[in-house]
Amino acid sequence: KKIVIAIDGHSSCGKSTLAKSLARELGYIYIDSGAMYRVVTLYALRNGWIQNGQPLREKVIEGLKNIKITFHWDEQTEKNTTFLNGENVEDEIRQLEVSQNVSPISTIGEVRHEMVKQQRENGKNKGIVMDGRDIGTVVFPDAELKIFMTASPQIRAQRRYLELKQKGLDVDFDEILKNVEDRDTIDSGREISPLRKADDAIVLDNSNLTRQEQLQWSLEKATE
Ligand code: C5P
Repeated sequence: KKIVIAIDGHSSCGKSTLAKSLARELGYIYIDSGAMYRVVTLYALRNGWIQNGQPLREKVIEGLKNIKITFHWDEQTEKNTTFLNGENVEDEIRQLEVSQNVSPISTIGEVRHEMVKQQRENGKNKGIVMDGRDIGTVVFPDAELKIFMTASPQIRAQRRYLELKQKGLDVDFDEILKNVEDRDTIDSGREISPLRKADDAIVLDNSNLTRQEQLQWSLEKATE
């Protein structure tokens, strides 16, 4: 029986890594909901609609109708590619400038409303793993399996640092740590759909777990 798996949690704690391997193992679709907020942020940045960290709300809301977000999920390589109006923006949306501006963008109610609508369309067919901040609480409150992931900020920043460095990007650890903590604060503190553990979610603290251990644990929960 195919199910819906919702993975939520703090920034950079390996949600997408786990979600992707689960999707591959189970033959499910993978949707990265954070990538969608990042695409909106990139579009706003390109248009100059974010000034001193403050989004021009009306412009961003108006711009939503001109943004088409699509994904290409390759199960074999576990590679997910994100497109903005047909343009591959996968690398660009991971850059620090986008990470630094995405949380304010995601506090805009109209933006969330539109993203949630699109996310639910993706989930119409069972057999999906979606990761984000409000998947188990808002997008799919009836998901059969909800996982809430967390790890210490230091460990999360360290992992993100290594990941970006491996990609050849010039990165600063303290800047990344600050970004991880700032996003947690905004994401947990916002009025609309704040990041929180769904009552029926199971917690996965992966501070001291390997990827393989996390996958094994989750597969057991998914097939219980
Ligand atoms: O998952 P990722 O770290 O790429 O998400 C980037 C940002 O998008 C988060 O920090 C959060 O502000 C926002 N987001 C959200 N709701 C989601 C997914 C992401 O508000 N479901």
